[in-house]
Amino acid sequence: MKLTEENYYSSEASQHYMSVSLFKNFMQCEAAALATVKGEWKQEETTALLVGNYVHSYFESEEAHQKFIENKGSSLMTKPNKKEPYGHLRSEFKTADMMIQALKQQPRFVGLYKPGQKEVIVTGNIYGYPWKGKIDSLSLENLYFCDLKTVDDFHKGHWQKSSRQYENFIANRGYFMQMSVYVELIKQTFDVECQPFMFAVSKQDPPDKEAIKFTSDEALMRMEDSMSMIEENQEHIQSIIRGEEEPVRCNRCAYCRATKMIDLPVDACDIEIF
Ligand SMILES: [Zn+2]
Repeated sequence: MKLTEENYYSSEASQHYMSVSLFKNFMQCEAAALATVKGEWKQEETTALLVGNYVHSYFESEEAHQKFIENKGSSLMTKPNKKEPYGHLRSEFKTADMMIQALKQQPRFVGLYKPGQKEVIVTGNIYGYPWKGKIDSLSLENLYFCDLKTVDDFHKGHWQKSSRQYENFIANRGYFMQMSVYVELIKQTFDVECQPFMFAVSKQDPPDKEAIKFTSDEALMRMEDSMSMIEENQEHIQSIIRGEEEPVRCNRCAYCRATKMIDLPVDACDIEIF
């Protein structure tokens, strides 16, 4: 299957190619992820996702941004009323405009992000299975790529139950994995090794902004660990996709709640807390 701009996010594409977001979905809830692959369940389009795409499309091209606004028009606006028959831009997107302005004024962001080719589709084989990725901005001439992230607050701690400690948004959102997979897919697609950079902009007023590199021993180790995590879990995930293993329900996500049937009563002392 050849990936194009049109079919990249299709259910057919996710049946052929693993991706970082799909892998992360499987790690969170196998049942919901499988339903997404089969096209039976669509993840809710959250405001956070829309804000991210709004900012992304602006830096992709003027045309992409206009197209995004046209497509998503009503979800960007408040509900119409007598006083405002067309509504007005929702506050989240006013913040998004502020985030765009904050980045535009940064010479280091403009200098690194702007020259690269935008939304480049890359594919490759990772531990025996085809994977896909989309690079926000790729500069093959200068051997680096950039990924743009919108974040609530860079310095917020995220509780990690397994290691019993707080971690930052990079670890929490699986960005070590995303960066290492992208390095690998770029290598397999273009035969070059590119250095990853991440530009993050926060939703605070005024927005925080940062360029992030992945060069320390610890960062490289986290990237390697994330590849091992793929190696360890991929076979199981693929056998769920092939229908050879039953997916496990997490019993707390939107999919599990929506499809849940009340079974025998649960004891009052046995309700799980997460
Ligand atoms: Zn679930």
